[in-house]
Amino acid sequence: MRRKFRNIMIVLGAAAASCSVLAACGSTGSTTETTTTAETAEITTEASAATSEAATDAATEAAAAVDYMILVNKENKLPGDWEAKLPITKIQNSLGDDVEVESGAYDAYLKLKSDLEKDGVKVDLDSAYRSVEAQQEIIDDFTVRYGEDYVKKYVAVPGFSEHHTGLALDLYLNIDGKDVYMNEDMVKYPEVWEKIHAKLSDHGFILRYLEGKEKITGYNYEPWHIRYVGDVNVAKEITDKGITLEEYLNVLPKGDVAPPAE
Ligand SMILES: [Zn+2]
Repeated sequence: MRRKFRNIMIVLGAAAASCSVLAACGSTGSTTETTTTAETAEITTEASAATSEAATDAATEAAAAVDYMILVNKENKLPGDWEAKLPITKIQNSLGDDVEVESGAYDAYLKLKSDLEKDGVKVDLDSAYRSVEAQQEIIDDFTVRYGEDYVKKYVAVPGFSEHHTGLALDLYLNIDGKDVYMNEDMVKYPEVWEKIHAKLSDHGFILRYLEGKEKITGYNYEPWHIRYVGDVNVAKEITDKGITLEEYLNVLPKGDVAPPAE
């Protein structure tokens, strides 16, 4: 409930205009439905088991089948068979919310997290994998609540959110022992984000929605939305060049994908 309440608060607040919470990072509503395919359930590793060698091996093996360079954005849809074969790790964050992440990305995230802790920076996972089905539920819910025009403008179309891949992670901060997870609060700590961004590529992550690249990514700047690309060298190249995943893959938008002005 807390999560749902939080998202509604975001929607009602001025931050809704940023659209980031809805479109890219999305209000999730119910992300934690337990219905998964048998296939997914088999390779699901619980956080508590993640430390056991067997679970880690299974996750590593399953993750080997994942295309970490997949491009999902406003013009590129998630492949239809993606979710069924996605190895997922389920955890609970400090807010008590259930979060699901692609298993290889989660292993990398844990290393990033402990690396950051050495610098006194504490992060946690707000949201990562979100199913196409959950995104449709958001559309239905928000259409009733705010109307069709609003939904068209701010909510990602099911199948076209990077969060479906399980490789996009939304971070939140813990500052002086206090969780900071609302977008409008998180942006008050640019110096903390700078430290976080500086370590992303060391662990195979990139900052996904860069400032000034809105017409390419389709999203406004989001310091919290990071993307696992599965390879430290690739992450470093993208980061060092200051380019987007679209530019790296040479798949630029054909139409106007620019987000609504803030
Ligand atoms: Zn996000």
